Amino acid sequence: MISPGKTIGVLGGGQLGRMFSHAATRLGYRVHIYEPSAKCPAGEVSARETNADYADAEALAAFARACDVVTYEFENIPVEPLWPVEKTVRLHPHWSVLETAQNRLREKNWLRKHDFPHVPFAEVEAKGDLAAAVRKIGLPCVVKTADFGYDGKGQVKVSDDASLARAVSEFSGQRAVVEKFIDFKCECSVIVARSASGEVRSFPVAENIHSKHILDFSIVPARIAPALQTAARELAEAIAARLDLVGLLAVELFVTDDGKLLVNEMAPRPHNSGHWTMDACATSQFEQHVRAVCGLPLGDTSLTAPAAVMVNILGDAWKWSGDKLVGDPDWAAVLATPGAHLHLYGKAEPRRARKMGHFTLTGAEASATLEAARRLKARL
Ligand code: AMP
Repeated sequence: MISPGKTIGVLGGGQLGRMFSHAATRLGYRVHIYEPSAKCPAGEVSARETNADYADAEALAAFARACDVVTYEFENIPVEPLWPVEKTVRLHPHWSVLETAQNRLREKNWLRKHDFPHVPFAEVEAKGDLAAAVRKIGLPCVVKTADFGYDGKGQVKVSDDASLARAVSEFSGQRAVVEKFIDFKCECSVIVARSASGEVRSFPVAENIHSKHILDFSIVPARIAPALQTAARELAEAIAARLDLVGLLAVELFVTDDGKLLVNEMAPRPHNSGHWTMDACATSQFEQHVRAVCGLPLGDTSLTAPAAVMVNILGDAWKWSGDKLVGDPDWAAVLATPGAHLHLYGKAEPRRARKMGHFTLTGAEASATLEAARRLKARL
């Protein structure tokens, strides 16, 4: 067990690291952030910060020596420089989990190999035949870059010859994956924690609504049948166990019209779709992450409100005149609403599509709370 008072190192200094740091600090830990860019959201609220490149072996070694356990809040970290880190200090989750999850092809092949339900896909090598893979999967389909993709970046939907030509030119020379386009009923996610002793706890299923490939709303409880909720949690727990995970894992799922669950993506870190846990759950995902990597008992994951909706606040919520920033959102609207909880990430510069903060609204029932959250978002 890594006791309170010890130092937890976090690779990555974004908002996930910031909220992790809040949770860890509350439990008496010191947090040391490792992040390439200075003035990052997590560094601002942590005891120590190192600004160096992820490939800087010397800086990483010094960071590892200064920490009692190391985890990460960011997926696009090269894995090789982490090998020596693990010789100095415990790294949770293991770098091999990161290696599997950060690359779509490895992730999908892993799901296939271990017989977990996933979206049908075909691989395309860097110099491979994308059109042949598209023919194999059939139209419509989605072409995605294999490495380092997120929030719909590096994705093209192919539904005809014109979009196929676009995808062929965009992905020329890159490894890619061609996925069947799923006309899903809804998207859900389950966040699951597992500790070194093998204790596993999942959070209630969230239903996620995206806009332009970026998460817009997470709704709890997900508006799917209770049996499907149980199946989704069991699936996430089984994946965590199979990965031999120590830490936190988010499993994103498509729910099909005929009630099947298909894994879309996995992320071995806290997840945007779990932010509601801070305001509507006995233990937040960030505290659970701390508990899991430090070997503490995992916390209760039951809801503390009948329903909750998390709303992402992007830079778009600021007042703009063309490209010119002319005013802040109306924070008072959220702050004055009972049951609403505002979280801002301290990012200096709002930009369109940039995640600047979120709010959670609790309520008596999921659909009504979603409508209230939409109205509140419009007042920002
Ligand atoms: P991803 O970056 O893979 O999580 O994709 C971002 C979003 O694009 C997902 O949350 C879905 O809304 C949508 N999407 C991704 N893959 C597919 C697919 N195979 N079929 C339908 N929608 C998809």
